[in-house]
Amino acid sequence: MADSTVRIGLVLPDVMGTYGDGGNALILRQRLRLRGYDAEVVEITLSDPVPESLDLYTLGGAEDSAQRLATRHLQKYPGLQRAAERGTPVLAICAAIQVLGRWYETSSGERVDGVEMLDCTTAPQATRSIGEVLTKPTIDGLTAALTGFENHRGGTSLGPAATGLARVTHGVGNGVGDGLEGVVQGSVIGTYMHGPALARNPELADLLLSRALGVDELPPLDLPEVEKLRKERLAAGRR
Ligand code: GLN
Repeated sequence: MADSTVRIGLVLPDVMGTYGDGGNALILRQRLRLRGYDAEVVEITLSDPVPESLDLYTLGGAEDSAQRLATRHLQKYPGLQRAAERGTPVLAICAAIQVLGRWYETSSGERVDGVEMLDCTTAPQATRSIGEVLTKPTIDGLTAALTGFENHRGGTSLGPAATGLARVTHGVGNGVGDGLEGVVQGSVIGTYMHGPALARNPELADLLLSRALGVDELPPLDLPEVEKLRKERLAAGRR
């Protein structure tokens, strides 16, 4: 494989990847290939140490017991933490926010120490949040409304080193009453949006890619099917 190949890490798909979150890595790869880049997805399972040399990382959601296995693995092999410290982009979906935080409490009330890449903590909400979520992004580089499907019991509180990704317009988001959705800190973007999120939110996909490539902007892709899905999910989120 040539050195110029962009390598996208799909982290622990064997335990984290509910609702097809692994699709985020495929979308990143395809958006690169359509622009003429060589790109590959590197799957990192519980049998592998976590490499720190990849160009971009994605992690999906998980049930409580599975996310605990992922937490232990990432603590044992801190490649993801090292990559993020160097500014490598990381996309963390749902349970992955909780795992990368300071600690999270499972639905049964057990507190688990997290990986401490994000200044946030998660404790169970009174009820599970399930349904479409629609938000207005608050970070530089994103202008379009974001949409996703959320399904989580955990509610996530942000500490001073972290900011939200967006303000909720429909749905629940982080679920602690501050009206925020997602967590951003350094090169890590976390969100409760399944979907997979990058199929519905191409601008977010391209933000991650432009950061991974170190370019200000990428040439637009004219993909009518992607635009159709984006608009359809926007309408669904407003209902
Ligand atoms: N187990 C976590 C919760 O319920 C995350 C769920 C998910 O990733 N969909 O909060």
